[in-house]
Amino acid sequence: MTPHALYRLVLVNSQYSEEEIKNLPLPVIREIVYRLMSVHLPIFVLPVLMVTWSRGQNLLFTIYALATSITLVHLIMLVKSNRRLLSPPLLLFICFILYVSTIMLIQKYTIFWSYAFTVGFYLLLEKRLSVIMNIIWVLINGSIAFYLFPFELALIYMLSLATCGFGIEIQSAILYRHEQNLKDLALRDPLTNALNRRAMMQELDKADALHKRYNTSASIIMIDIDHFKAINDNYGHQEGDTVLINFVATLSRRLRSTDSFFRHGGEEFTVLLQSTNLKDAASIADSYCELIRETHLSTKVAITVSCGVAEAKRGESVVNWLNRCDTALYNAKSAGRDCIKLA
Ligand code: GH3
Ligand code: MG
Ligand code: MG
Repeated sequence: MTPHALYRLVLVNSQYSEEEIKNLPLPVIREIVYRLMSVHLPIFVLPVLMVTWSRGQNLLFTIYALATSITLVHLIMLVKSNRRLLSPPLLLFICFILYVSTIMLIQKYTIFWSYAFTVGFYLLLEKRLSVIMNIIWVLINGSIAFYLFPFELALIYMLSLATCGFGIEIQSAILYRHEQNLKDLALRDPLTNALNRRAMMQELDKADALHKRYNTSASIIMIDIDHFKAINDNYGHQEGDTVLINFVATLSRRLRSTDSFFRHGGEEFTVLLQSTNLKDAASIADSYCELIRETHLSTKVAITVSCGVAEAKRGESVVNWLNRCDTALYNAKSAGRDCIKLA
C-alpha cells in the first residue's frame, strides 16, 4: 500500500464524507489531525525504540515497545474497521508519557518538543480543554525546566512556551468566532434569527434517523400566518416584518428545550417535537393558536395562525412526512383558518 493510499484510507474512511472534509469545520479538522497523528506516531516511535534497544536502555525500551504496540494496534483497527482504540486525549497522553520518560532518562533537550504539544492541544482538543491543558502544560514544563536548566535558560524557555500557547489560543478563539458566524449565515434567517429551511432539513434527517433506530416518536407542526399578504398590502412591508419578528420571539419563549423551531418560508414555520406523539403534538399546536390569538403581534390588526400536525410514520421519508403535514395545514386553511388539522 502506498503512503498516499494509506492516507486516503485513514482520512476518507471516517465518519465524514469527502464533501464535509472539503468544507472543513473545526471538528473535521480535529478528526483529520487525529487520524494523521495515529498514522505518524508509530513511525516516530520506532526509530527511538531501536536506539534504546541498541544502547541497552531497558526501562525506556520497554516503555517505547509498549507505546509502539498500542499505537500500531490502534492504527490497524482504524484502517481495517474504522474503530478507535485511543481517543484524542489518550493519544496525547501516550505522547506525554514518551516525552517525560525520554527527558528524564536520556535526553533533556527533548523538552523542546513541548511546543509541538501546544499545537497538538489546539488541533486535537475541544476549545476549553485546550486552554486548560495549555496552562497546565506551561506549569509542568516550567517546573521541569527549572529543575534541569540554569535559571535564565529555564525562564526564557517557560516564557516562550507560554507566549506560544497564548498566541495559539487567541488564534483558536478567532477561528471559533468565524465558524460560528459562518454557521449563523448558513443556517439562520437574518430577519428573525430563526433557523432556516436548510437547518430544518438537517434536523429532520437527524430526527428521522433516531426514529428509525430507536423507534422513538417525533412530530412536526407546520404553522402559517393567516392572511399575511393583507398585512403587507394594508399596512406596509415593515409592519409585515414586525409581525414576523414578534411571532418568532413569542413562539420561541413557549418552546420546550427539546423542540426546534424553523422559518422555512416567508410566513411559514415548522416546530419539530422530539419524543412527541400525534395526540400530544395536537394539543401543543392548539396552544400555539391560542397563544398567537391572545398575543398582540401587531398593534394594527389581529393575527391568527393555522397549523398542520404530523407524526413520523415507520418507513416513510422525511419528504413524505413534510408533505402529509403540508396537506393537513392546507386542510386547516380550507376549514376557515385559526385552527389545527392532523395528518
Ligand atoms: P393564507 O391565510 O392562505 O396563508 O394567506 P397569506 O396571505 O398568509 O398567504 P400568501 O402565500 O398569499 O402570502 C404570503 C405573503 O408573505 C406573500 C409575501 O409577500 C409575504 N412575505 C414573505 N416573506 C416576507 C417577509 O420576509 N416579510 C414580509 N413583510 N412579507 C413577506
Ligand atoms: Mg399565510
Ligand atoms: Mg403561506
